[in-house]
Amino acid sequence: MSQLNPFSVAQRQLRTAIQALNGPDELYELLKAPSRFVEVQIPVRMDNGALRVFTGYRSQHLHVLGPAKGGIRYHHDVTADEVRALSMWMSFKTATLSLPYSGAKGGIIVDPKRLSEGEIERLSRGYVRAIWQIIGPHQDIPAPDVSTNAQIMGFMLDEYEKLRGESAPGVFTGKPVALGGSLGRTEATGRGTVIVVREAARHLGIPLQGARVAIQGMGNAGTYAGRMLEAMGAVIVAVSDSGGGVVEPKGMSMAELIEHKRATGSVKGFGGARTSSQREVLTADCDILIPAALENQINGEVASGVQAKIVAEAANGPTTPDGDLVLSRRGICVIPDILASAGGVTVSYFEWVQNLSGLYWTEEEVHSRLEQKMVRAFHDVLAMSERHHASMRTAAYMQAISRIADGLRARGLLKAEMPKRVG
Ligand code: NAD
Repeated sequence: MSQLNPFSVAQRQLRTAIQALNGPDELYELLKAPSRFVEVQIPVRMDNGALRVFTGYRSQHLHVLGPAKGGIRYHHDVTADEVRALSMWMSFKTATLSLPYSGAKGGIIVDPKRLSEGEIERLSRGYVRAIWQIIGPHQDIPAPDVSTNAQIMGFMLDEYEKLRGESAPGVFTGKPVALGGSLGRTEATGRGTVIVVREAARHLGIPLQGARVAIQGMGNAGTYAGRMLEAMGAVIVAVSDSGGGVVEPKGMSMAELIEHKRATGSVKGFGGARTSSQREVLTADCDILIPAALENQINGEVASGVQAKIVAEAANGPTTPDGDLVLSRRGICVIPDILASAGGVTVSYFEWVQNLSGLYWTEEEVHSRLEQKMVRAFHDVLAMSERHHASMRTAAYMQAISRIADGLRARGLLKAEMPKRVG
């Protein structure tokens, strides 16, 4: 897939939205790069006694609308610019959802599949020892992302609290419920994606009953989205993971796919389904496509082959600017990442609120508040897109950037006025 630099992509998206808003140049200057970026070296004693030193990053894009917020990724392809881009997208995502945060992101260059559980725990604790002074419940609040999970947040919280010498559950979200994690957090990203898919399908007059769905990425975001869509009557016709893809026009059971992946490590070779390339899953004959893996998966060439009517970006940055242009020209409804993947950070926000107040909510309360936030954000972005004849992506950016600009202006950091009030 495309090797496009995600940081350049994020900057291009930012510029496009500021131009659409007729916004001042100084707004681009203030938002074009993280305000703080650290690179750390993490020494880990491996099980065989050897020492390995891993490189990690933490990027804090802004501190304008509230503390910085964003996940930590473990992946062998993590780069400094990827982490920078992801932290920018988090600022726009949290502003799209009107959450009182700014964006952050972290990452470690590591293939976690090659590490034992003990090595992963030591790496996670080492990362916290390297960054603990710049994170905190009122400073920067990490969460899970690709190849990190609630257990890893548990190790990190434990290390942080030892270093601080005090209880601070609000420093990490997506942690185990036993440590103050929120009910409903694990499935929140997929749930949020499905809520906006349902709203888009209603708007476009596409019934979800019988709708054919293709999913790229069978991890946290992809599996929960697939399970919920299946429960709503949709049919899963194509899925892929890092091991390959499978296509079955008659439909596949999500429970059986998950079990096959658990047993074999991949969806490849599932039941009677035809084995396919990862690319073929993106261009499969379907109504709804959910990219839920990594960045830069839908470039111009892939976009020209996409058959879905709705593309819901559960992943961060799955579509390149060229791909976006092609999808938009072809009239395909793209629900952008900063909206479609916002369910996770929204429930992370709920988790943080519960940690700060010490009052814990029922799962039903979490689901119902997530529903309200996602529906509201979807219709705000849709209205903006119709009012300004802009794509859903540009409209979401316009919404987010005007909210951030209000914050910058209120702090006296932005002098220039936006020519027209939006949203
Ligand atoms: P995960 O590690 O649980 O799952 C990632 C999945 O993608 C795995 O199944 C992996 O095999 C698959 N994958 C990797 N490379 C692939 C390829 N080339 N083709 C097909 N599949 C491939 O990660 P996740 O937490 O589900 O995150 C997935 C995406 O969603 C990322 O972009 C992440 O930033 C985004 N996201 C996650 C959350 C969250 O709460 N977990 C929140 C917002 C956004």
